[in-house]
Amino acid sequence: MTPSKKPHPCQAYCSLKKRNRNIGRLSAIAEIISRDFLTTMPEGAYENRLDQISYLHRRIHDDIVCPDSQAWLEEAQEHLATHPGLWDEWDTANLIETVKRYKNHAILDPDMLEESARIANEGRRVHSLCLKNNDWEMAQAHLERVAVHVRKLAKLKAKSRNSATLYEALIQDYSPGVSLEKLWKWFNHIDTELRILLPQVIERQKMRTPIVSLAGRYDPEAQMWLNRSLLELFGFDFDRGGLYETEHSPVEGGTPDDTRLVIKNVDPRDFMNSMKSALHEGGHGLYIQGLPRKGGSGYQPVSHDLGTTMHESQALLVEMVIGRTPEFFEFLAPRLEGLFHTVRDPSLTAGNLHRRKTLVKPTLDRKGADELTYFFHIFLRFKIECDLIEGKMEVADIPAFWTEWMHDHLGVMPQNHTEGVMQDVHWFVGKFGYFQAYTLGHMVAAQLFDTMQQDIPDLYSRIRNGDFKPITKWLNRHIHSKGSIQPWDELLKDVTGSEPSPDFLISHIENRYLGG
Ligand SMILES: [Zn+2]
Repeated sequence: MTPSKKPHPCQAYCSLKKRNRNIGRLSAIAEIISRDFLTTMPEGAYENRLDQISYLHRRIHDDIVCPDSQAWLEEAQEHLATHPGLWDEWDTANLIETVKRYKNHAILDPDMLEESARIANEGRRVHSLCLKNNDWEMAQAHLERVAVHVRKLAKLKAKSRNSATLYEALIQDYSPGVSLEKLWKWFNHIDTELRILLPQVIERQKMRTPIVSLAGRYDPEAQMWLNRSLLELFGFDFDRGGLYETEHSPVEGGTPDDTRLVIKNVDPRDFMNSMKSALHEGGHGLYIQGLPRKGGSGYQPVSHDLGTTMHESQALLVEMVIGRTPEFFEFLAPRLEGLFHTVRDPSLTAGNLHRRKTLVKPTLDRKGADELTYFFHIFLRFKIECDLIEGKMEVADIPAFWTEWMHDHLGVMPQNHTEGVMQDVHWFVGKFGYFQAYTLGHMVAAQLFDTMQQDIPDLYSRIRNGDFKPITKWLNRHIHSKGSIQPWDELLKDVTGSEPSPDFLISHIENRYLGG
């Protein structure tokens, strides 16, 4: 998919494209100063920077919804309807995406938008502080402010999107086109299947050789060297991006020309934590860098990614699916002893690292969860969000519900709020409706991996050799370079031959944890 070089015969559409380019420029600036906000900005700039980011978002909003944009959109849609032969696939999809963006913004007033931008940026800091001080009171006050704002947004979105419920309207921001009914169906199916698999996997893993714990101190600089090297092997272009450490939760962003990946400060006692984050954010980063960008096309809405489900699928494919194969650890293990200055360390063998990374054990922490129980963490958050947005639950009710659910479903009990309800940054930054996209992304990752194995016959020996670029090239060709030319579920069907289905995820887990 490439944009045509000739000027388009519809004058209004040409004007729209110019407007899109300016909006794209402003958005790129907002992205970069938001990443800087989390990484190198001096503390004293905090208030002003928040103000600048909010202002930029307001400007972007004004450019999207102003009367001339609206008139150009109407004229261009009329032109497309009357001269469909003059519109190629790229321009048609670009107009459709521009209309969608207009509709999404037209329902919002600038004050609400500014509040969203403030919550998104301020929320990360509030979250860090609450965690540091295990301060639920501060968290509750912040989350109550967020909940009021998000419910207001949901009402507006539900009306304009004809959604069945308020929560379904929010989901559209992350997994466009997915009904709440379908989500419940998929989630209940996965829940039933994984509840059957979980005790079988735990029983089977009891028979394995015991895991040797990591006992060394792993130099932070060496860890970051390893993380950067792995991303380089996957084809992440450090001339067009970077990997940074901060005290906040990991996040990715920027543009295809300047892709910023941020992970939490490395843990000197466990290099596998930062590696996991780097691979996850790296999967996001490869997607961003692979989006269409030539000739300024990156500023057009059709060049944007397909939303959170597809984004998370790219991250989870690298981190959880490929990054937990035995072959990945066969590649990694011989390189670790030199890097961390150890000799014949039994904790660093490929087998031990693989056993450690595929150990299934219910935990309190979502990010540290294994690939199987990860789903239950998402399911809990999904249920809470559903009730909270619909007004069936209040922020103050969450901790008790959380503790009881964790106890009943995973047999673990948080001892404090840091271990429980406050662990994730998402709600703090206003992302209600996001969590389901991790499970959908995991489903999509398993489905893509199934096809990738057929398309790249020597895939596993390539992983064993650290030859990861064919993986990225495959993703690039089938997913990244497509931008938003078609909806995510249609693209997935074209690439894999099947509608999105949880069956690929269930078979992947069955094969990995109970097969062979
Ligand atoms: Zn992610």
